[in-house]
Amino acid sequence: MKKCIVIGGGLAGLTAAAYLADSGFLVEVIEASPKLGGRAYSFKDNQTGSIVDNGQHIMMGCYRETLKYFKLIGADENLIYQKRLKVNFLKENFQIFTLTTLPLPYPFNLLSALLRYNVLSISERVIFLKFFLKLPFVSLKSLQNLSVYDWLVRENQNKRIRKAFWEILAVGALNSNIKKASASSFAFILREIFLAGSKASTIIIPRLGLSETYCQDSVRFLASKGGKVTLLESIERFNIKDNRVTGLETSKRKITDFDFVISAVPNFSLEKILPEIDFTDRLKLNYSSIISIHLWLKDNFFKENFYGLIDSPVHWIFNHKDHITLVISDANELAEKSKDELFNLAVYELEKFTKIKKEKIISYKIIKEKRATFVPSNDIISFRPKSETKFKNLFLAGDWIDTGLPSTIESAVKSGRIASESVILSAKSK
Ligand SMILES: Cc1cc2nc3c(=O)[nH]c(=O)nc-3n(C[C@H](O)[C@H](O)[C@H](O)COP(=O)(O)OP(=O)(O)OC[C@H]3O[C@@H](n4cnc5c(N)ncnc54)[C@H](O)[C@@H]3O)c2cc1C
Repeated sequence: MKKCIVIGGGLAGLTAAAYLADSGFLVEVIEASPKLGGRAYSFKDNQTGSIVDNGQHIMMGCYRETLKYFKLIGADENLIYQKRLKVNFLKENFQIFTLTTLPLPYPFNLLSALLRYNVLSISERVIFLKFFLKLPFVSLKSLQNLSVYDWLVRENQNKRIRKAFWEILAVGALNSNIKKASASSFAFILREIFLAGSKASTIIIPRLGLSETYCQDSVRFLASKGGKVTLLESIERFNIKDNRVTGLETSKRKITDFDFVISAVPNFSLEKILPEIDFTDRLKLNYSSIISIHLWLKDNFFKENFYGLIDSPVHWIFNHKDHITLVISDANELAEKSKDELFNLAVYELEKFTKIKKEKIISYKIIKEKRATFVPSNDIISFRPKSETKFKNLFLAGDWIDTGLPSTIESAVKSGRIASESVILSAKSK
C-alpha cells in the first residue's frame, strides 16, 4: 500500500487526503494548529455560547468540486441550498431590492431576475442585461490586461450599476478592489456562475458552524478508509535527495516512511519550510483582509439568511438567528483600525441601513483575517504553479495553485482533487 503524507489540514489538504484514501492509499494529514479547517473554521464564543465562524463563508451552486467532496464525506446535508437564486439588497432605511428569478426555464429565469432588479432604472437594466448577453462571447485573453473596473466601464456599466450589483459581487467573490482584480479572473467565474444552468447561480450557506459543517465528516471519512489526522505538529524541513523528498522533519519527529508528499499549505508557509521550491521571484502574491463583525442583538427581526448592502463599506449581513455577522471584504485599510473604531463603523452602517440602534446590541466580536485571500491580479495569473513540482514525489495543493479560480473554497477543493489525481497517476507510472 502506497503512503502519502498531506501537509496542512485546510480544505485543500482534507480533500486530497479523502480522494487518496478512497483510492486505497494510506494517508496521514499533518496539521500544525490545534484544529482542522485552515482559513475556514468555527469556534465557540465563550461570552455568548454561540458557534461563530472566523468569517462567514458562502458557496454557490457552481462550486461543483466542493459539492462533490462534501457528498463523498457525507457533509452535503450540512448545507442550506437555495431552490432558485434570491438575493436581497439593502439601501438606507431598510429599503429592500430583490434579485430573484421567476420560475421559468434557464436562461429566461436569469434574464427575468436581471430585468426585474428595480433598484436600477429601466434603461440601466437594459445595459445590465446586455453585459450578460455578451458574456458567452467574451474572450478571456482579450481581458488579460484589464482590471474588473476597466472592463465594467468599457461595457458601459455606470457607477450606479457598479454600486448596486458589480461591486458587491466582485468584491465578495474576489475579495479585492475592482481596480486591482483581473477582469479575466472575474469573467471566468461569471461564466461559472451564470452560464452553467439555473443551479450554478444559487447561493449555498453552511447550516452549522464551519468546522461542524465539514471537519468532523472529513476525519470520519478518512478514518473509515484507514487514514488519520495528526494535529499540533508542524512540518519544519524537507530532506531532499536526487530530486525526491526523502524525509520530513516535524516539530516532533522525523518521517521517512512515505512514498508521496502533498503540500497543502499557503505559499508563504511552503517557502519557509522548502526554500528550494523557488517560484518566489515569479509568484508574488498580495493578500486581502476580511473583517467579520459578529453582533448579538436584543431582538433579531431579520427574516432572510443574508442581505447585500448597496454602497456601504459593509458588504453583507448574515443572519444566524442568535447573532448576525457583518462582513467587510477587501479590508486591508480598515483592518488597521482599532476594534472600537470598527464597532462604531458597524453601528453607524447598521443604523443607516436597518434602523437598528446601538442600544439594541448586547455583545460583539470582531475577527480580522489579514491574509484571508490572495489578490487575483493580472500579473500573477500565469505564474500560479501546477500541482507537479521539480521533486518527483512532491505535489502541491492549496487555493493558490493553478486552478483558474480565485482564492476560494472551490479553488482549495479543486486543488486537492488535482493533487490526489497527480499522486495516483505517478504511483501507476512507477
Ligand atoms: C474570513 C474569510 C472569509 C472567506 N470567505 C469565503 C467565502 O465566502 N467563500 C469562499 O469560497 N471562500 C472564502 N474564503 C477563502 C477560503 O477560506 C480559502 O480559500 C480556503 O479555505 C483555503 O483553503 P486551503 O486549504 O487552500 O488553505 P488553508 O485553509 O490556509 O489551510 C492550510 C493549512 O495548512 C496548515 N499549515 C501551514 N503550515 C504548516 C506546516 N508547516 N505544517 C503543518 N501544517 C501547516 C495551516 O495551519 C492550515 O490549517 C474566505 C477566507 C477567509 C479567511
